[in-house]
Amino acid sequence: MLAQRRVKVVATIGPASNSKEKLKSLIEAGMNVARLNFSHGSHEDHIQVIKNLRELSKELRAPVSILQDLQGPKIRVGKFENGFISLEVGQKVRISPSFELGKGSDISTDFPTLHKDVSQGERILLDDGLIELAVDSVEGDIVNATVIYGGKLKDRKGMNVPGANLSVDCLTEKDLKDLAFGLEQQVDYVALSFVRSSEDMLRLRKLVDEKSPKTKTVAKIEMLEALDDLQRIVKKSDAIMVARGDLAIEIGQTRLASVQKKIIKECNRQMKPVITATQMLDSMVNNPRPTRAEITDVANAILDGTDALMLSAESAAGNFPAECVSTMHEISMEVEKESASYYIRKKKSNFETVPESIAASASLTAEVLDAKVILCLTTSGKTATFISGFRPKAQIIAATHITDTLNRLELVWGIQTIKIEPYDDVESLIARLQSKIHALGLADFGEKVVLTMGQPIRSGAKTNTVRVFTIDKEVVESVDMPMPLRFLD
Ligand code: PEP
Repeated sequence: MLAQRRVKVVATIGPASNSKEKLKSLIEAGMNVARLNFSHGSHEDHIQVIKNLRELSKELRAPVSILQDLQGPKIRVGKFENGFISLEVGQKVRISPSFELGKGSDISTDFPTLHKDVSQGERILLDDGLIELAVDSVEGDIVNATVIYGGKLKDRKGMNVPGANLSVDCLTEKDLKDLAFGLEQQVDYVALSFVRSSEDMLRLRKLVDEKSPKTKTVAKIEMLEALDDLQRIVKKSDAIMVARGDLAIEIGQTRLASVQKKIIKECNRQMKPVITATQMLDSMVNNPRPTRAEITDVANAILDGTDALMLSAESAAGNFPAECVSTMHEISMEVEKESASYYIRKKKSNFETVPESIAASASLTAEVLDAKVILCLTTSGKTATFISGFRPKAQIIAATHITDTLNRLELVWGIQTIKIEPYDDVESLIARLQSKIHALGLADFGEKVVLTMGQPIRSGAKTNTVRVFTIDKEVVESVDMPMPLRFLD
């Protein structure tokens, strides 16, 4: 069952997946988070997708998180007279913001100060680093360069200048407009591209707080500078994305694997959800099956400790979007049989807050008592997220009446959700949930459940209690319910 998978799947929505029918197939295949890439598409396109996702989520009784990915200051080449140019090794080219259209050896760019930010000997990478240029000289606003690796350069492809401290703001005018739109639509997460420091995340948080304080922030780690401030960026963000596309170009491709592990480790340490992104199943854009290297890449990201795996072009523009989600599901289920990846945090870790301490107690109690379920009665999902940080083997079930919380928890490793009605009698709620847990096959008679909750209920207290109960034949009533996709009832 989909709910048994602990690691989550993020799928980017695009032309190959934005119809209601295609979105349905992605949810049914196990998509937990839909990523809307604001580098592409109009607000009208995105509104339609959001509306369809919210409707499908209700129809299919499967919570889905919506992640808005802001484009950020992505530098691009402009358009070409014929849609592309071909670049040969050794060819001399000119790049300038003043060229209206590129042609022959002239490349236009949307970055007005490129000539001020590069100097002789620096490398300029185009189209995700497939094409490489070396800067020869700068004359006025024209950058002269030589082609080191050539290829076909199409309209609007990305441009990177690795290591250069470019004079760009991480929130462009377009981003601010897109952000206002996303917050109006109450997206669950907003991701900021090309984050350089924790200050960038603080700025985003302030803007988000003004309009939609419950929306969570995601820092995309894809700049060399971000690695110097990694600890604080993780601290100031609600989640992190290892944005391997630009990251590989910025840090040099051979460092990618070790940097991925370092970022995931820091997120695990701070108990913040982390997404591993880009080209995980790239060959499945065209093929129904992944390569061996891709299978291993997905598995290794899980073993590294990632919370979520992300599909980009595979689900946005590929021929097999739902098959890609299923493939990630199947690989994850297999890897998760490996128990070595559980209980990564232990008693000796520091627990700074009440929810962290409660999460620690619940996880360790579940480990010692071999409990099958940790049940969190929650409103914000905070304690459940901390519990996830311990990577317990017991299934984490977050129960709440707040739909936004259910949706947001879809990104977090190992958490499944049950929707409940608001309650003031906790004993009868526990009895009902006991019956549900049993009916869903999560725990059998005599097996233990660890419960976290805030008491007293009526005062709306934050989580402050850990309790253990046993699935009791006398209490469990038979619950007649269809098996939901992911327990949203
Ligand atoms: C990346 O660079 O890996 C990434 C996820 O960002 P984008 O797709 O916006 O380039």
